Amino acid sequence: MSTIKAVRGTRDLLPPETALWNRVEQTARDVFRRYNFGEIRTPVLEATELFARGVGEETDIVSKEMYTWEDRARAASEKAQSLTLRPENTAGVVRAYIEHKLGDTGQLQKLYYIGPQFRRERPQKGRYRQFFQIGAEVIGPSSSGSESPLRDAEVLEMLAALLDALEIPRASEANDWKGWKLQLNSVGSSTDRPRYVAALREALLPVRDRMCPDNQRRAETNPLRVLDSKDEADQEIIDALPKIADYLDDASKDHFAQVLAALDACGVPYMVNPRLVRGLDYYTRTTFEFTVDVGLGTQNALLGGGRYDGLSEMLGGPRAPGIGFAIGEDRLVLTLQALEEAAAASAGEVSIMPKLDAYLAPLSPAQNAAALSLARDLRSSGLSVEVGDGSFRLKKSFETADRVARSIVILGEDEVAQSVATVKTFASNEQRKVPFADLRMALATE
Ligand code: AMP
Repeated sequence: MSTIKAVRGTRDLLPPETALWNRVEQTARDVFRRYNFGEIRTPVLEATELFARGVGEETDIVSKEMYTWEDRARAASEKAQSLTLRPENTAGVVRAYIEHKLGDTGQLQKLYYIGPQFRRERPQKGRYRQFFQIGAEVIGPSSSGSESPLRDAEVLEMLAALLDALEIPRASEANDWKGWKLQLNSVGSSTDRPRYVAALREALLPVRDRMCPDNQRRAETNPLRVLDSKDEADQEIIDALPKIADYLDDASKDHFAQVLAALDACGVPYMVNPRLVRGLDYYTRTTFEFTVDVGLGTQNALLGGGRYDGLSEMLGGPRAPGIGFAIGEDRLVLTLQALEEAAAASAGEVSIMPKLDAYLAPLSPAQNAAALSLARDLRSSGLSVEVGDGSFRLKKSFETADRVARSIVILGEDEVAQSVATVKTFASNEQRKVPFADLRMALATE
């Protein structure tokens, strides 16, 4: 019979790799807490219309990458509804903001999320159909300061702090630019953007036919996306297109200048990239992307985000300017793995797995119960412990213990009768007798 495999583009994450995922999430939660963010968890399923309206019908995500189906009515009281597995979480967070009237508090909302997203993309390293994002949103009525350039700078500075906490280096000459880089741009307000898009459409008209089929289609449906194009042959044409910076009104220009000044003041390095427009329709003003030159190959975008001052209104809510980002957690983990491998290789080490504090080895099945009870006590005091089975041979117990733990605790008939274990610590090769009552101290301080 053929076996059943995980669906294409989805993955099982197994230990020990999951320990790294947990470390990343723990670090993110800790950094977000320090910046006064609270966690939000929204459903994985949303009404399809949320993304059609929020992300935009013409985007690649909505036009070809969503997992959407018609959810049949199960009872007369229900209506059939088109549902979608969320391809991103900002629209869901803003929906929840509107639904729970969070704006009525008058307070700025600082929310973060960690969870799976779904896009039907062509799978490759760093690009999956189920992937995880760690993201955050700052949103609130204008009176709460949600439009302030200070918020943009704070979010960017928090991201730098998170990457620093994870020990991902900043790109510099010293590390051959193998580290993270922040690129940012302003795509203007909701009045600047249509003027720019109109200018872009006009500039594309005479050159469009010389571009690749994808860009010809974008020129028609979503001209901003042409700027994102990686098509080599089209680069010269794209470089000559009008720049958004020339279409910003004074308020947008001033906002962007203040963001840059605040970044300078807190020492966050950045590059302004006038072509950075990003794929989602809801962005206004500041948009940004962090790339990293280790471990990701062509999928080197680690995270992206920006301002979405009009999104709440696009979803039928009150005016609620905001700014947010989404980190590709899969890519963050790949980056950390590549950095660990490089560090181990340069130190001439194979990377070592974290070891348990102790491996308990009962010598016969008669000591199994005593071993389990002792393990319970040690575990409840915080030690990590594995228990062998009394039917294993002593030699096998030693081999297993040496592989997984720092010490072996031997429990024979005499040991259990006297409540004194024989403990061997592998690193020092020292063997000694330790009363059960002292085991916790002896194993923890090894
Ligand atoms: P976006 O929501 O498109 O702005 O993407 C934000 C970040 O999510 C990107 O910079 C990637 O790190 C990550 N990401 C987006 N799509 C995928 C995918 N299919 N697989 C893995 N990571 C992804």
